[in-house]
Amino acid sequence: MRDPRYDVLFEPVKIGPVMAKNRFYQVPHATGTGSSMPHTRAGIRESKAEGGWAVVCTGYCSIHPSSDDRHYPFSSLWHDDDIKAQAVMVDAVHRHDVLAGVELWHGGGVVANKVTREAPISPSGIGDPVWVTHPIQPRVMDLADIRELLSWQREAALRARTAGFDIVYVYAGMGYLPFQFLTSRYNKRTDSYGGSMENRTRLLREMIEVTRDAVGDDCAVAVRLTAEENMGVRGFRGDVEGEAVLEMVGDLPDLWDVKLGFTDDGVTSRFTQEAYQEEHIRYVKHKTGKPVVGVGRFTSPDTMLRQIREGVLDLVGAARPSIADPFLPKKIEEGRLDEIRECIGCNVCVASYGEGVPIRCTQNPTIGEEWRRGWHTETIAPKSSDDSVLVVGAGPAGLECARALGQRGYAVTLAEATRELGGRVMCESKLPGLSAWARVRDWRLGRLETMSNVEIFRESRLTARDVMDLAPDRVVLATGARWLPSLPDSADGNPPPVAQSLQVLTPDDIMAGIAPQGAVLVVDLDPYYIGGVIAEKLARDGLPVCLVTPSVAVSPWTAYTEEQHRIMVRLLEVGVDVVTSHNFVAAGSDGAVVESIYNAAARTVPCDALIIVSTRKPVDALHHELEQYADEVVAAGIRGIDIIGDARAPGAIVHAVASGHRFARELDSNDRSIRMEPAGVSFSSVAL
Ligand code: ADP
Ligand code: SF4
Repeated sequence: MRDPRYDVLFEPVKIGPVMAKNRFYQVPHATGTGSSMPHTRAGIRESKAEGGWAVVCTGYCSIHPSSDDRHYPFSSLWHDDDIKAQAVMVDAVHRHDVLAGVELWHGGGVVANKVTREAPISPSGIGDPVWVTHPIQPRVMDLADIRELLSWQREAALRARTAGFDIVYVYAGMGYLPFQFLTSRYNKRTDSYGGSMENRTRLLREMIEVTRDAVGDDCAVAVRLTAEENMGVRGFRGDVEGEAVLEMVGDLPDLWDVKLGFTDDGVTSRFTQEAYQEEHIRYVKHKTGKPVVGVGRFTSPDTMLRQIREGVLDLVGAARPSIADPFLPKKIEEGRLDEIRECIGCNVCVASYGEGVPIRCTQNPTIGEEWRRGWHTETIAPKSSDDSVLVVGAGPAGLECARALGQRGYAVTLAEATRELGGRVMCESKLPGLSAWARVRDWRLGRLETMSNVEIFRESRLTARDVMDLAPDRVVLATGARWLPSLPDSADGNPPPVAQSLQVLTPDDIMAGIAPQGAVLVVDLDPYYIGGVIAEKLARDGLPVCLVTPSVAVSPWTAYTEEQHRIMVRLLEVGVDVVTSHNFVAAGSDGAVVESIYNAAARTVPCDALIIVSTRKPVDALHHELEQYADEVVAAGIRGIDIIGDARAPGAIVHAVASGHRFARELDSNDRSIRMEPAGVSFSSVAL
């Protein structure tokens, strides 16, 4: 039973002509599926509808070919043929008595129309200098273009209504077209759509009106607004432009969905806390009588409740928390708070969109697999035999594997060499800003502790002999990987020379508490976060730190998680000397030599200790040992030995969790096929 304190979260909320059955609202978010994967998309959305969200929205849905964001995956309602694909999602959501919302969108000057090859349009010919990575400027819209835009919105809204949507959006956020009209940075017009705030709001007003006119009383009309850009006078300020807009059109739509701008919206837990948007959006409710939904990576029902009680929000919006746990509302409703799989704020989900592929999530390995592999986020087929399974290693792969096998009813033994469970997650979550990552361990351990069919043995480093003595039916090795202190060969075919007197360490050494002495050089050859965060830690420990990388930016892959810029700012703040586009060449008693990747121009940097962030090697000694005893293994009754997670292929935590989960799903199944869209195509995936 739920705690009566949370009753308020389950009150219905009227949104114009429709009624949300509770206050949980899955705001529009990308799924990396676009229009070409309607079933994959519907599977993702349906899992949220089933999980208790009262409203489930699409991602951004283009209204016209002049808003073509490819290579990014977006959906569209350009013509009547698109209705069918959208209806797949609407029907899936409606099966659970849940409202479906569609975020109609025109990107204006920040899209490049790479496939449709239309000239991008904008209020004044200004694209976005930060985000536009294509060499074309948008053209200036004249009054006929504005009339056309309004007709596109109207037609798309009509199609949305035909598809069955209950809430239809006007999207005035994130640098997209109606927002460009609102913002003086983009809008330099001197006609009735530019200049005064009233003129700049004219387009938004008209878009709301045509949308309302199109959908009548069948659907609610929502506006999604970037309520604050945090850019000072250059940007859209809540207390200036925001309040003025709401004073003019605050009561025109049926709902306000508010958020921050491009650079501030989906910030990771490394840089923000839960509810980080609150101070910026608080003003909105004071300026409208209509319901307001907002986000803040909410996973705590107490924070949600406080925001409702304090009049910050009427509806609890979520993108990432609904991805990490589609059943979050249901778990609160049923008083199962300790079962909530909390988002860790890593933005791997965001990265999938940036890479143009279906969404992945570190915490939720089933997201995106609902239709493709038929995986339900909460349920899993019961065991098909009485096999016992030994899982060796309790990092994210081993924990997830043991948990999912335990859920299936298998008798599981989980053995871990160390006292603390969690493997790499426990080490990495102690690094600056990464404490929320411990949730990967905490949720799984919490679930395992409720399972009487799972036994956990700590401080149990297993040998091949131990494994054979335990004699399980199946063995799963989740023994992880270790960072190597080795550097790639230089141009002469030899490893770069490093003086014996220097301390040479790896990220594992630093995380194990080994302290370097003197000036530290971090040689970062890894694309993701670890080099940057190790440099930050050592600088915070008071050491002089230089980070050298051959990449053009530090931690380059974090551009996908929208962290790269913040990481650089953070490193500069703590005093790290960041040297990009340079190779490490040698280190001696008088420092290290690094060379430009372009012209080999050399410079010397201070170096008493070298931290090499290079590659990881699977911990597979136990596997090789077991291979040597193949006959004895068979004699012990062991029918299968498999390797998962980093021990199989060193990757990010998301890969380890997914690997553990998949093994547990497929332990007793020969069907490893994946359905691919267009619908009906399937192929067999590689067996683990
Ligand atoms: P992954 O990311 O694949 O889960 P981790 O490196 O996070 O990998 O975790 C691997 C875990 O396996 C570590 O906690 C490590 O202590 C444990 N481990 C490695 N070898 C053994 C072994 N022989 N017996 C028990 N535990 C082991
Ligand atoms: Fe949260 Fe990371 Fe999952 Fe995204 S990928 S929902 S940020 S846990």
